[in-house]
Amino acid sequence: MYIRYEVADKIATITLDRPQAANAQNADLLDELDAAWTRAATDDEVAVIVLRGEGKHFSAGHDLKDRWPAPKDITLEWIYQTESRRYLEYSLRWRNVPKPSIAAVQGRCIAGGLLLCWPCDLIVAAEDALFSDPVVFMGIGGVEYHGHTWELGARKAKEILFTGRAVTAREAEQVGMVNKVVAREELDAQTRALATTIAAMPPFGLRQAKRAVNQTLDVQGFYAAIQSVFDVHSTGHGNALSVNGFPILMALDEMKQRIE
Ligand code: ZN
Repeated sequence: MYIRYEVADKIATITLDRPQAANAQNADLLDELDAAWTRAATDDEVAVIVLRGEGKHFSAGHDLKDRWPAPKDITLEWIYQTESRRYLEYSLRWRNVPKPSIAAVQGRCIAGGLLLCWPCDLIVAAEDALFSDPVVFMGIGGVEYHGHTWELGARKAKEILFTGRAVTAREAEQVGMVNKVVAREELDAQTRALATTIAAMPPFGLRQAKRAVNQTLDVQGFYAAIQSVFDVHSTGHGNALSVNGFPILMALDEMKQRIE
């Protein structure tokens, strides 16, 4: 089990519980996480969902040491299908759960880590939070779910993609990606206080408010852009596959050195 799930006072708390691996996401963790979101979405006793990570870091991203098929079985079709389901569809589904959600982020939130916090409606960050997407080092133009431009604005999105550098919590707050920055030791309490305030509001009003904002983004092109950029992402995998074979493991050590 990689996910803990608790409900108290109308707040469902979903915890990434793999701190020994900085909450890196293997397939099982993501499937358990999706099940927890579904449980919270369908439980009438739950008004607000909090997503948090156990330990020093929110999430190191996709677990590049997960159990992969044999190299000969890793085709672009396999990559496309696997990533459509666990990265694109999961993140979109969590974004559209008709209840408010809050991510509490501390430490590193790398690449696939963004796919867990961006779909949440609000983000509370600890002062030590660092958000980054260094997958350009792998020859791919960013992670599967292209929140970058929507969350950071076009220039900042390009800057972090072009350089691979991390955005600090304060910087993320300035551009509106994060709602609030708090001391690390205050993260859980402040997130809970915000969740408690929201949980006291009328559920149908909350649902409609969320729909109003998400629908506005969708009319502006959010949904269509997310879909088409996923395909752009896949061409990066296609090229890397044709040049090097499955690129991820080969690039892993180099990437780690550059981001640490
Ligand atoms: Zn990918």
